[in-house]
Amino acid sequence: MRYRPLGRTGLIVSELGFGASPLGSVFGAFAEQDGIDAVRTALDLGVNFFDVSPYYGDTAAETALGRALRGVDRDSYLLATKVGRYGATEFDFGAERVKRGVTESLARLGTDHVDLIQCHDIEFGSLDLIVEETLPALRELQRAGLVRHVGVTGYPIPALAHVAARTPVDTVLSYCQHTLLDRRLAAWEGHFATLGTGVINASPLSMGALTWRGAPHWHPGSARLRERCAAAADLCERAGGDLAKLALQFSVATTGAATTVVGTRSPDHMRRNVQWLAEPIDPGLLAQVEQCLAPVRDQGWTSGRPANQDPRERS
Ligand code: NAD
Repeated sequence: MRYRPLGRTGLIVSELGFGASPLGSVFGAFAEQDGIDAVRTALDLGVNFFDVSPYYGDTAAETALGRALRGVDRDSYLLATKVGRYGATEFDFGAERVKRGVTESLARLGTDHVDLIQCHDIEFGSLDLIVEETLPALRELQRAGLVRHVGVTGYPIPALAHVAARTPVDTVLSYCQHTLLDRRLAAWEGHFATLGTGVINASPLSMGALTWRGAPHWHPGSARLRERCAAAADLCERAGGDLAKLALQFSVATTGAATTVVGTRSPDHMRRNVQWLAEPIDPGLLAQVEQCLAPVRDQGWTSGRPANQDPRERS
């Protein structure tokens, strides 16, 4: 496992991070022991960065991750969770709620601090409120020692950049935008580096779309995107390969982000994911898959308030 600095936080993170949303049954039901074994396998293989949120499975993912980490040396891993999103349409970025949210998350995670607290999916809230109220409230918690660093997450990268330019944020988490399907994060990496903001690259498998199983029913991608991903999965299978392997290798090897966070609730997947990083990427198969996905490249989808898609257009 390789490790990289996360912006200016001083945290050194594994290039592969563990995304705990599957521990909230976001991708279907699972046996709790498998989830615990997936976390323990990740730790054994050198993964030190774990990302979760109270939103995943209506707090179930935090509870499961807390159970999995019980008894593990607290200094051996870095824990990131989130505030502000509590349901599919339930958001509250107010100071009182986010402070209470951190206390609740700490109890579920069985710890007295998290290494990173993030405002979850800021594009659904008021960016002014995030800058003027939410982030200052989280900085208070930082001074009190409950959280070590403060960041924001979301889908429209211009919204993340807008907030990071208005007030210092330690990290941004972008998802599904440094993958075989979408490279838009790459254009922003220099900007975040100039601001001193660490970048986290989440969802290298485009939330399951870049696997043989395909996108889950709630995936926001278009029917055309699903169809092209299924064609790419077939193409890989016929070549004796695996679309998930190619997608993970591509995302980790080519991103400038400090860590790439993949979601899993399976110890076997975790083992495979780490193993794949040590293997060379197949350039011939990569070229074929790139061609197959070209018609849907960089198209993505809309997430959150219209005004937050690109706040630069406001001025
Ligand atoms: P992902 O791209 O990591 O894909 C997860 C899916 O891929 C799951 O169905 C999993 O079972 C499957 N998978 C994992 N390894 C596999 C393997 N070896 N073979 C086949 N299938 C495999 O998507 P994700 O889980 O949504 O994203 C990763 C993490 O990033 C999340 O768990 C979460 O922690 C974080 N995230 C945060 C935000 C946000 O803050 N707004 C958004 C998206 C993701």
